[in-house]
Amino acid sequence: MIKELSLLKNLVYSNFVRLRSPYKITFAATYRCNLKCKICNIWDKPTRDELSCLEIEKIFKSLNNLNWIDLTGGEVTLREDLSDIIKLIIRGSKRLVIFHISTNGQLAQRAFLATKAIISAGITPVINISIDGPERVNDFLRGGSGAYWRSLETFRSIKRIRNARVYLSCTLSSLNIDYIDELITDLKKNIQDFDFSNLHFNIFHQSAHYYNNQNKDISLELTLHSLKKYLGLCALGNPVKVFLEKEYIKELGFFINNGRSSFPCQACLSTCFLNPYGEVFPCSIYNLKIGNLKENNFDINALWNCGKTKAVRKCVEENKCPGCWSPCEAYPAIAGHFLRKAASI
Ligand code: SF4
Ligand code: SF4
Repeated sequence: MIKELSLLKNLVYSNFVRLRSPYKITFAATYRCNLKCKICNIWDKPTRDELSCLEIEKIFKSLNNLNWIDLTGGEVTLREDLSDIIKLIIRGSKRLVIFHISTNGQLAQRAFLATKAIISAGITPVINISIDGPERVNDFLRGGSGAYWRSLETFRSIKRIRNARVYLSCTLSSLNIDYIDELITDLKKNIQDFDFSNLHFNIFHQSAHYYNNQNKDISLELTLHSLKKYLGLCALGNPVKVFLEKEYIKELGFFINNGRSSFPCQACLSTCFLNPYGEVFPCSIYNLKIGNLKENNFDINALWNCGKTKAVRKCVEENKCPGCWSPCEAYPAIAGHFLRKAASI
């Protein structure tokens, strides 16, 4: 209960003051990947010195304000030491409430074991498995024959684990928006008890330092009509997920029309992004490096409270970043915004 109260407090406080330590971190533990998606070039990044378990332990042991971690890649299950990484993060971050993993679902057994490792440490895992269309569309867009069925196998195996929350995650763009109805029909056929609450939406984003996909000329011309149709289907499942998903889709229209969201961004105020090499950025999109933890004694709090991070935050406030509506950044903004409103009534 203390951990949950700490999360609520941080969600509200971060709307008024800059936190002394981030309460949410997105950590890309590897940039290696076993797929070659049309929307992303992470798989093409050179493989170099990823943070070791020992280094990860040093980073997370000082994060006593951390309530929320997004563990991602590349494909995070390619880290052979994934279960150890999970244990070290949880052991170090005593106030962790939300442990979210994004996976492309190609290695079912490893995703299953990672889910179990989170549960053994007493935290409810939230697992997102990528799927971008019906079989032929998904496998074409994700650059891997059989990828659709492997994702479904991973989804089914994790769905059987008691206390795990698992979703299929679809990144929308002009490449697949016309196939979403077909995807939903297929999923209903192929997954027992499937309903819309098992599906989660994201949209295509560009990022030089993360997705490495500035050269991708992919349109976000999603019609508001399509968005509203999916909004109407979002009424089922976990109430927190329903709320966040609905607000996320509602705001998408504003973001597509304006290139920015109307919710205040939390980057460098309460959240940040850590890459496999120890480099810290405000988020997965803004290509403005704050520093490298390997050159800062792995002390993320010291880096967080230095002048450089505060200067980067100022750039965010002055709208110098590209703007985004990525769920990793959007969900804390949505939750914080509404809690602040509730607290001020
Ligand atoms: S989107 Fe994910 S699965 Fe696809 S290439 Fe990028 S990191 Fe790999
Ligand atoms: S609004 Fe800007 S700084 Fe904030 S998460 Fe998006 S790109 Fe990053």
